[in-house]
Amino acid sequence: MSARLAHVGPARPEVRGSDIAVRDGRTVVYLAGMRRCGECGQWEPAGAHGCARCARLVDEIVEEGWRAFLEREFGAPEPPGERLIAEMVVDEPDRHVWRVVDAAYDRLTCPECGGRLSRGPAGCAPCDLANGFRYSAIEIDRPGVPPGNEHALRVNVAVTRRPYGISASEVLLRRLSLPALLDGRLPTVEQAQATKALVGKGASEAELAAVIFGDWGSGP
Ligand SMILES: [Zn+2]
Ligand SMILES: [Zn+2]
Repeated sequence: MSARLAHVGPARPEVRGSDIAVRDGRTVVYLAGMRRCGECGQWEPAGAHGCARCARLVDEIVEEGWRAFLEREFGAPEPPGERLIAEMVVDEPDRHVWRVVDAAYDRLTCPECGGRLSRGPAGCAPCDLANGFRYSAIEIDRPGVPPGNEHALRVNVAVTRRPYGISASEVLLRRLSLPALLDGRLPTVEQAQATKALVGKGASEAELAAVIFGDWGSGP
């Protein structure tokens, strides 16, 4: 059993009995860096987008990137002409990190569906196009996370924020992945494949959660 699972110690108040397991004779608290959502009870922000609070937390993942970008480039978190800045960003998505690009799209209105550009229903042409363009943005792993964590986070955030045209079982996997990824975990290729296979077999939410929060990022 790897050291990465060794979130050992006294249970914090928000940790429930079901979040504690005994492995190799030691008490292990799953994802000690995580918190339960006070509204839906899921690990934050896995309740998105059914839970409004979790949905806001997912939006906040890109919003914090946007604020940092504005602060760095314009010296203020809310400079005038934000919409113009957003248009400039989406014109050159490959020059910006994905959080900035995704937040920029949120600030633009789709001419066809009238929603936030890139987040409209599947089949809305401008949204589909923008949803493709977003992937040319840059991803930079956060300090201390395994390489590829930021990529996985980006994909799962994008699907959670625009679940249209995606099967319910995949959306479930994507949203349940978010707390683990935000906690700096990344499944091994084998773990990711095994989890996908479970999804294919119609695993329940509880079964998936046990694998994602119990096994991901652990092992040899
Ligand atoms: Zn929630
Ligand atoms: Zn649209």
